Amino acid sequence: MHPENLEFMSSIKITLPDGSSRDYPAGVTGMEIAKSISEGLARNALSIEVNGEIWDLSRPINAPASIKIFTWNDKGGKYAFWHSSAHVMAEALEALYPGVKLGIGPPIENGFYYDVDLGDKAFGEDDLAAVEKKMVELAKLNNSFVRTEVPKKEAIEYFRKKGDEYKLELLEGLTDGSITFYKQGNFVDLCRGPHIPSTGLIKAVKLLNVAGAYWRGDEKNKMLTRIYGITFPKQKELDEYLHLLEEAKKRDHRKLGKELELFAFSEKVGLGLPLWLPKGTVLRERLEQFMRKAQVKAGYDPVVTPHIGSKQLYVTSGHYEKYGKDSFQPIHTPEEGEEFLLKPMNCPHHCEIYKVKPRSYKDLPIRLAEFGTVYRYEQSGELHGLTRVRGFTQDDAHIFCRPDQVKEEFIAVIDLVLHVFRSLGFENYTAQVSLRDPANKQKYMGEDHLWDRAEREIQEAADERGLVTVAVKGEAAFYGPKLDFMVKDAIGRSWQLGTIQVDYQLPQRFELEYIGSDNQKHQPVMIHRAPFGSLERFVAVLIEHCAGNFPLWLAPEQIAVLPISEKFNDYAQRVITTLKDKDIRGFMDDRDEKIGRKIRDAEVKKVPYMLIVGEKEVSENKVAVRKHGLGDQGSMGLEEFENYFVKECAIPV
Ligand SMILES: [Zn+2]
Ligand SMILES: [Zn+2]
Repeated sequence: MHPENLEFMSSIKITLPDGSSRDYPAGVTGMEIAKSISEGLARNALSIEVNGEIWDLSRPINAPASIKIFTWNDKGGKYAFWHSSAHVMAEALEALYPGVKLGIGPPIENGFYYDVDLGDKAFGEDDLAAVEKKMVELAKLNNSFVRTEVPKKEAIEYFRKKGDEYKLELLEGLTDGSITFYKQGNFVDLCRGPHIPSTGLIKAVKLLNVAGAYWRGDEKNKMLTRIYGITFPKQKELDEYLHLLEEAKKRDHRKLGKELELFAFSEKVGLGLPLWLPKGTVLRERLEQFMRKAQVKAGYDPVVTPHIGSKQLYVTSGHYEKYGKDSFQPIHTPEEGEEFLLKPMNCPHHCEIYKVKPRSYKDLPIRLAEFGTVYRYEQSGELHGLTRVRGFTQDDAHIFCRPDQVKEEFIAVIDLVLHVFRSLGFENYTAQVSLRDPANKQKYMGEDHLWDRAEREIQEAADERGLVTVAVKGEAAFYGPKLDFMVKDAIGRSWQLGTIQVDYQLPQRFELEYIGSDNQKHQPVMIHRAPFGSLERFVAVLIEHCAGNFPLWLAPEQIAVLPISEKFNDYAQRVITTLKDKDIRGFMDDRDEKIGRKIRDAEVKKVPYMLIVGEKEVSENKVAVRKHGLGDQGSMGLEEFENYFVKECAIPV
């Protein structure tokens, strides 16, 4: 646009994310706006959101709009970047495999893929490097991504000539007038966009793997080749990503769970139903002991309830409506019309425990805790190791309290959650306060003034405990506000763990009440809380966080006693027996193997301590101490070691 023409053009109001607005000539592009804000922003800009839609930075804006310019730090920026990278990959494939036919090539959570039909050419992981190299070459040409609107007839003509039946099929579903092509260099694709300004922004490329994928996800269609890749604006970022992938692979709880013999799955038992092996069970029981101890201190009463409940129980609670049709189906009995459900939640059972006798305001709060196993039917495709299963045990508890006790109870639960995080080495955590949508109050159950009070007090409780929180409006459940914890693990991934939830609904559905100081009936507030969430998911996260190197108090095997030769087996036996008498878990390796081999095997099993015994140790009644990953720690008298170790192994309080 020539500056001298500006005054003849109408101007439009552009509103920025901070709420401020500026006038620009109609037809201004996102890139021009970015430049007018700062050179730095223009350099890093990848795409622009215009009235909620993501556009190319080169597309003219002709009407007033609210905009946000996206960079690599925004999802919208990354998606445009990875979508553009998929086009560059397609361009590279066309150069290397003339005649290749293209399906679809979208951005995904981490990177992008393209589904392609290579005809009868075999394509495997070995071929990725050449495509990668070509992509880097093409990216360096710094070709612009150019958008053109194309009449449907022309579009069909183009792909008919090219002989790409997949794009022709996609075109069938599109209406004339809404069809756009994108071109970079010699490559043209049928595409809605948006794209980044030019290929030169792509500085680092990695193609990750090859898989088969049916065209349009339908197994009646042809199997295409799906190529996954990821790209970055800087080589350093790719290096970091690859390192993280490597680390994540090493820590994968499914892999370590097998190697450390913690848990297993059997198709015969059923998908998503974990089998806890002896060592995994020790780990799990230690976590339970840890939580029980903390709960006793915090004034909880343990309860036990059955794994099933009558259908009527869940009709009352509302869970039947939520889980009935899409979960495990009712269990029938010889009694006509009698139906039971596997319990999807422990709460209804606990409500019935609350109701066994009249309660007075002086009895509250009542805190009922149970390691309750629940069953929910997850789609088989959703199942994943211990993180998504069909049967799991929650460290569940329900607090029944008066409205004036909510804050105090929240503070106590926050303390419990932080005790868990500290004891297990999660140092990096934040919390989300989920509030009502203030514009939509009628959507929520419970009295208005109680909501206002609970929301304020949850925030105050979090502040008093120094939690870093984000408050999100509209994220509360319809039955109450909540506080969710997010932790970062040792390699920077975020996991949601632990939640504290206020509930005004179940007390009403179950007609729970207490007699107040005014001698009138009142409804208690119910708080659901589970600091671990579920033992299954928590163990999965813990394994990946500590890479299988559990804190000493949790380790299924804490000690390996390793005699240097057969001659010292008797002494080794005495050492292990003495320690086991003190509740220390371990084993003696009396195989006829060299000591180096025994040490290596104990290291692989991630046993925290190794006690090596030979001539010198036997004669001096000592043990030579070796720590996993740290090596030789010198020798110690047996009794001295015992005393030290028993203290080290104690459950944290
Ligand atoms: Zn595209
Ligand atoms: Zn509950």
